Amino acid sequence: MQIEPQISPMSIPGHFDPVPVPREVTPRADGRVDLIGLSRTQIAALFLDAGLDAKAAKLRAKQVFHWLYHRGVTGFDAMTDIAKTMRPWLAERFVIGRPEVVEAQVSNDGTRKWLLRTADNHDFEMVFIPDATRGTLCVSSQVGCTLNCRFCHTGTMRLVRNLTPGEIVGQVMLARDVLGEWPRGSMAAPDFDDAEDDEGTDYTPDGRLLTNIVMMGMGEPLYNFDHVRDALKVVMDGDGLALSKRRITLSTSGVVPMMARAGEEIGVNLAVSLHAVTKDVRDEIVPINRKYGIEELLQACADYPGASNARRITFEYVMLKDKNDRDSDAHELVRLLRQYGLPAKVNLIPFNPWPGAPYECSTPERIKRFAEIVFNAGISAPVRTPRGRDIDAACGQLKTAAERKSRAEVDRLLEEKQAALG
Ligand code: SAH
Ligand code: SF4
Repeated sequence: MQIEPQISPMSIPGHFDPVPVPREVTPRADGRVDLIGLSRTQIAALFLDAGLDAKAAKLRAKQVFHWLYHRGVTGFDAMTDIAKTMRPWLAERFVIGRPEVVEAQVSNDGTRKWLLRTADNHDFEMVFIPDATRGTLCVSSQVGCTLNCRFCHTGTMRLVRNLTPGEIVGQVMLARDVLGEWPRGSMAAPDFDDAEDDEGTDYTPDGRLLTNIVMMGMGEPLYNFDHVRDALKVVMDGDGLALSKRRITLSTSGVVPMMARAGEEIGVNLAVSLHAVTKDVRDEIVPINRKYGIEELLQACADYPGASNARRITFEYVMLKDKNDRDSDAHELVRLLRQYGLPAKVNLIPFNPWPGAPYECSTPERIKRFAEIVFNAGISAPVRTPRGRDIDAACGQLKTAAERKSRAEVDRLLEEKQAALG
């Protein structure tokens, strides 16, 4: 009898099969707790535990929250409306952390890229992309990724762990530090929710460079749902970093069961990494498609709370030569978006090659033709200009470059040692 080969179902760790992650409130080696990433309620609970009465804990938490996230202070001494005697009490028990910067680079086009390190020594990336009308910070949600999209460099790394809310919010804090964007004057938080539609408007009313956040760094944000939600809630809080939900975009490769919750509990703009319109091709390049197929994914997009013509869903489509870039793919894309009645825009992303990548980028003519077909069907289809190519700014590349360098350094040291030994 012929025995059929057993195909094991793909197991995808993440929200359902949790990956290792430190607790949200984790004391450091010296016993002090980092407050960054915590909400007002969590801070009040810590103050209560540390001995303040309920009323004082709540009041102090409100003040400290404002100093942390709206003013960006990094020490308790700067908190001038908190009694001088209280400040050492805070400093003994708590710290105000930032991710450690391993490497920082600035591209000749203004793109900045950082390799950051967690307290337990894992490296991850953050990118800042300024352009004429906005400044976008690309934030990581995990160290590595459990999914293995074949064109994505992060997909070749194993997942180390989820980032904590503190490590996610910490990226935004660090970017504001570097860009020098903490307010110095009034303590009042500007009301960004009153800002016009973010399409093509100027910088935020107070002239800051960092205007938008995209969860498009390393990792799949919907496999670290709780931490991403908690972090973004802190980022959106009007008394803190105060970024409007209209200026934040969460990008997912298609974790269908978490999409409705993302709309309800976070409410930010949605971007979906579609990249292909047929089952065969999407199964190959975005393997989560084997678990949640294109139809299911597009239905979840159609049901996404808050999507409308004013707040369209972005479909990301990486242009891979002879893989997903034919005229027929463009026509099928249009048909699918229409079939599901999706308020959509399509971002065409030229593939950013990395050493050993199994694909090439489509030719500029092909990308232009593809864009025309989608655009002529009445769907906005901008081609994204590659940014920061001189500094390896594509997802996952700086981390690998740094590892390569450190290996090269190790080799050099070994050679020197051998030479010294004669
Ligand atoms: N995991 C999430 C968010 C991070 S990836 C997701 O997949 O949506 C952010 C975007 O960068 C995705 O659209 C991804 O497909 C794209 N991307 C990854 N590697 C790329 C590369 N080498 N060239 C172009 N785009 C890439
Ligand atoms: Fe993970 Fe997104 Fe890269 Fe896919 S594209 S491997 S989901 S980071």
